Amino acid sequence: MNSDNSDDRSDMHQTYVKRILEAAADGNVKTLQENKNALISVTTECRNKNGWTPLMLATRNGHIETMEFLLENGADPKAINKSGQTPLGIANFWNQSTSAQLIQKFLEPEKGMQYELVNHFSVSSVDRQSYKRTDTEHIETAKKSPTSKFLVFAEMQLVISQCQHPKRGTEVVWFSWSDVEKNLNSHEHDIIFLGVGDLASGRLLRETPTSCSSDVAYFAVNFKKELSEDDFPISHRKGAYAAAGMNQDLLRLSKEESGIVAQAKSVLAWHDKYIYCPTCGSSTNMGDAGYKRNCSNTECISHRGAHNTCFPRTDPVVIALIISKDGNKCLLCRQGRHPPRMYSCPAGFLEPGETIEDAARREVMEECGIHVGPLKYHSSQPWPFPSNLMIGLIGHAINDDITVDDVELEDAKYVNTLFLRVPLVDTNMKSICIFYSVRWFDRAEVATALIEGFKRPTGLIVPPHYAIAHQLMKAWLQMTSNL
Ligand SMILES: [Zn+2]
Repeated sequence: MNSDNSDDRSDMHQTYVKRILEAAADGNVKTLQENKNALISVTTECRNKNGWTPLMLATRNGHIETMEFLLENGADPKAINKSGQTPLGIANFWNQSTSAQLIQKFLEPEKGMQYELVNHFSVSSVDRQSYKRTDTEHIETAKKSPTSKFLVFAEMQLVISQCQHPKRGTEVVWFSWSDVEKNLNSHEHDIIFLGVGDLASGRLLRETPTSCSSDVAYFAVNFKKELSEDDFPISHRKGAYAAAGMNQDLLRLSKEESGIVAQAKSVLAWHDKYIYCPTCGSSTNMGDAGYKRNCSNTECISHRGAHNTCFPRTDPVVIALIISKDGNKCLLCRQGRHPPRMYSCPAGFLEPGETIEDAARREVMEECGIHVGPLKYHSSQPWPFPSNLMIGLIGHAINDDITVDDVELEDAKYVNTLFLRVPLVDTNMKSICIFYSVRWFDRAEVATALIEGFKRPTGLIVPPHYAIAHQLMKAWLQMTSNL
């Protein structure tokens, strides 16, 4: 019975999609107006088999009135089809100058200074109030407030639950001070202060940089042992569990919750590992509500002046999407640890005394043999495994010929672009080889991979939306369409 209902809904959905696409291609505004509700519900997934949206079809045929209606009702002027074209690219290609002007008008607000993209783990929703961290009395009062909220980790595994809605992944389970307090004496733990705000409001810190009086204080605690039913009964956790497959579960959190989790996880991971003073080897204790570690040796030099060994660390990683000389291809690479057919942007750790740009140029040169010229910053992304900062760049190649050190056949199609990295030695002292392949991909391949996702049976697969590499590829397609 259920499956019949769902088949019915699916048939109805397909009928709406077909009707809307036909009406857009024909410039039939009346039909679109009559199906306005359906249009809104299918806006993001309303595409033909080539990935064309209703706006693209109306643009191709120069139906200005239809385009206006679609744009005013939520059509995305930056959508990409499987050929890597945006509506503006289509208008330019078919010499539809009036259509191009109209689309420009809807893209206009994005010109000039604008806020950067907010990636997964990048949502800052709380005022961190760093100036309050040394005020022990204030922090203690905030912690014990009936309104304060706690993220709970057990051996660095966050307690989360599955969303009731199957498509929404996982969600954070918030605990109160009374839930946490009763376990403090029996379990070794670290507690850190995260900040003050109202996550439920969905606002970003850059919109309201300071907290309101009604906001709550957020904390995180890491218990250094597994949690039992007696510690945190299931009833208290809404059926939650301490996630074992940590990385995947955190990637399935909502974007809104991912930011504060990234903050908590990275700082707690630092406390978990940096328990001895790097200067003198004595034990250290937490200070500044979780943002400092103090050496227990009063003679230690770390007590005189500021030392970076006392503060939480962040490790910067550069990741770059490199565009070919003609602007029509991008450079992607594949490592042995990637799922089959998945390619991503070259990336690597920034080294001491190196600029972000030079680190990107070095990584691309070392990994792909490609010289990189101008580079532009795109966006960044905290990556709390345990504490990286991904710095996303878009750059232009100076040469197109990929250096091949040694050829190994993993996939005949890619034979000209594969090379074998130096043999490595695994823990059993056996020689193992890491295959690493690099290729130029054209816009259509990348666009199709972005649209079809992991389900596609053949061809290129790219990282999912929560990875900054995905966003860099999307940005390239949107900026170079049909040029
Ligand atoms: Zn010390």
